[in-house]
Amino acid sequence: MTISAASIDSTFDLMRSKLHKVVPDFELRYKAELVYDINQLKEKRGAIILGHNYMEPALYHTVADAVGDSLELARKAASTSKDPIVFCGVRFMAETAKLLNPEKTVLLPAEGAGCSLAASIAAEDVRRLRQAFPGIPIIAYINTYAEVKAESDICCTSSNAAKVVEALDSDTVILIPDEYLALNVANETGKRILFPTKETEMRLRAMDRTNYQMIGWHGRCVVHEVYDVLDIQAIRKQFPGVVVLAHPECSAEVVDASDFSGSTSRMIEYVRNTDAPYYLLLTECTMGDNIIAENPQKEIVRLCSVRCPFMNEITLEDTLAALQENQHVVEIPEEIRVPAKRALDRMMEIQ
Ligand code: 13P
Ligand code: SF4
Repeated sequence: MTISAASIDSTFDLMRSKLHKVVPDFELRYKAELVYDINQLKEKRGAIILGHNYMEPALYHTVADAVGDSLELARKAASTSKDPIVFCGVRFMAETAKLLNPEKTVLLPAEGAGCSLAASIAAEDVRRLRQAFPGIPIIAYINTYAEVKAESDICCTSSNAAKVVEALDSDTVILIPDEYLALNVANETGKRILFPTKETEMRLRAMDRTNYQMIGWHGRCVVHEVYDVLDIQAIRKQFPGVVVLAHPECSAEVVDASDFSGSTSRMIEYVRNTDAPYYLLLTECTMGDNIIAENPQKEIVRLCSVRCPFMNEITLEDTLAALQENQHVVEIPEEIRVPAKRALDRMMEIQ
């Protein structure tokens, strides 16, 4: 979704035709200049911009050469011949691109673009889990840093987690670090789940594996953990016929009370391909604007106020600066990159 225009004025016109429902004119006028400069410089440098579905509309619909969920962007990063790769998303996503492209420059426009899930677990925690539960395969959600992936056996994303669990063909698996994703996948795959907290408890429970088939971790996404079943009930009363979509990082109760659950791209596709009077998206709010820009006839319930503070770090200004100043370069030491890539490759092999 990139805008190719010969001048700032025509960039503004194209942006306005697409985004008039979601971005005010004065903002578009200012941002058109940035978009024009980014696209010029991107072309000149032979760069590619990858944009996650949570990017603001004035970036998502204008400068990103490919947009998508974590898995789609990882696949795009694996197949591109462009260099540098500018990743408009959060650090773990840019790291994933770097794991797959060690020889290329990967740029993350804002250094503060972290993730509460990725921050919830360290490599040392994974080593402790492996010691406490020897022989049980460890699945790292892609929302983890490279050090954690390096200690794991395989990765998964929100769109393939159940598939990865099933592909492992193991009675028991460890799925870290998202408590809610693990609960949702345990429900989907019919596994009983255990959440160890202290090392002693881990050891004790490790003795009786008949009591559980999945081991989770207490990480949470600061965006998705706030949704509540009461929100859904209130909206269903107010908007009859509303279709409720929940990201699998929401609690199991919220996912149960929803009509559909899937990755950000699967949610976008669902709205695109169905015809409901209203949609309620239980995910980062910016994505609703991106959907409306693409499908102006759809009614998204606009009560959303939950923004990801980390995704929101990425701005057009920073993206331009990234291309101008070659910042911020993502580096991963080889001793971490090699095992982390192995875990990622194993996931990418699962279709
Ligand atoms: P997706 O892979 O579904 O895009 O999720 C990424 C993410 O960070 C959701 O909060
Ligand atoms: Fe992380 Fe949640 Fe933000 Fe996604 S929305 S990047 S999981 S904090």
